[in-house]
Amino acid sequence: MTEEKQFDIDTLLAQAGNRDNHDQNNAISTPIYLASNFRHRDLEDVENFDPKKQYSYSRLATPTRHVLEETLAKLENGTAAFATSSGMAAIQLVFSLFSSGDEIVTSDDLYGGSFRYFDYLAEHYGVKFSKWNGRDYNKLAALITPKTKAVWLETPSNPTMKIIDINRVATIAHHANANILVCVDNTFLTPVYQQPILSGADIVVHSATKYLSGHNDMLAGAVIAKSAEIGETLAFNFNTTGATLDPFDSWLLLRSLKTLSVRMTRHTANAKYVAASLAKLPQVQKVLYPGQGGMISFYVQNLDQVDQLFKRLKIISFAESLGGVESLLTIPAMQTHKDMAEAARLKLGITDELLRLSVGLENPADLAADLTQALGD
Ligand SMILES: *Cc1c(COP(=O)(O)O)cnc(C)c1O
Repeated sequence: MTEEKQFDIDTLLAQAGNRDNHDQNNAISTPIYLASNFRHRDLEDVENFDPKKQYSYSRLATPTRHVLEETLAKLENGTAAFATSSGMAAIQLVFSLFSSGDEIVTSDDLYGGSFRYFDYLAEHYGVKFSKWNGRDYNKLAALITPKTKAVWLETPSNPTMKIIDINRVATIAHHANANILVCVDNTFLTPVYQQPILSGADIVVHSATKYLSGHNDMLAGAVIAKSAEIGETLAFNFNTTGATLDPFDSWLLLRSLKTLSVRMTRHTANAKYVAASLAKLPQVQKVLYPGQGGMISFYVQNLDQVDQLFKRLKIISFAESLGGVESLLTIPAMQTHKDMAEAARLKLGITDELLRLSVGLENPADLAADLTQALGD
């Protein structure tokens, strides 16, 4: 794993799964192993079983997922990676590290499903969460107590595109207590633009449903751990809880990763074009674009305009999710963030007039024209 680290991420991505030792026929594309179980030679084989190199039962490890996990670990500079059945399963796997009474500090502008899960953990398991505004770093230090086990953040934030300095967060958290796990949900920027472990994070998670797979055709998640020790605990918990990614979807994700870098470059170019075009429209109050990636949020003037926009769009689909080749438009207040308390939502600027656009890989002038005609008189 380590010997290939000198290669650029473009090379790692294009070569994902090639030249690994899992296929005796030297196939360039990783084969799909549909076996749920693997034969042992004899008792000695079982006694000396090495789960990192051998297979027994596919929940523990299976070749296609193994190749994917090795690739994910390399891309995010970790020592271990886990491919899960969804992004939420990835987040749940990380939380298998914590117990009742543990305290977690989170940034205040997260994926709606993360908030829903954190509320659930607080209610049913007595995990305590405190919210940090993502801006005031002195406040972050003040929120950390002797019981704090992790800091959880997304940057840019979802959906209001705030940028958090991962390095600064990691320095503050680790200064307070070296064992605090700094966890970053890297779904929006992907390792092409942001590698949190290099900025001091301990754990990276992804909803691979989004950019990593990139084609609006699968659900998957990933957890990448910096330390081997945390990796060992996660491996045990992963096999115990069981939300693993199946071999076919592991292959599909591995295949998708090969084009991640070119897709991200084009998502960015398209989003820059569309953001500039939106900013010129009189119906658009404000455009939020962090400068990289394919996600744009923007405010229109009223709910009537929102309805008209959704009805008139010819290319962009009114649909949840993000990160795929097809452009999608959502209304976070009614979709991704609908389970958030209204007051908290409004405080973050998630009003009914806020729309979130996942800019796809279509021609950017066509996308800009679609939005212009749909918002027009
Ligand atoms: C979608 C998403 C998730 C949840 O992932 P699923 O694959 O839908 O379970 C988590 N974090 C972010 C930032 C997301 O966009």
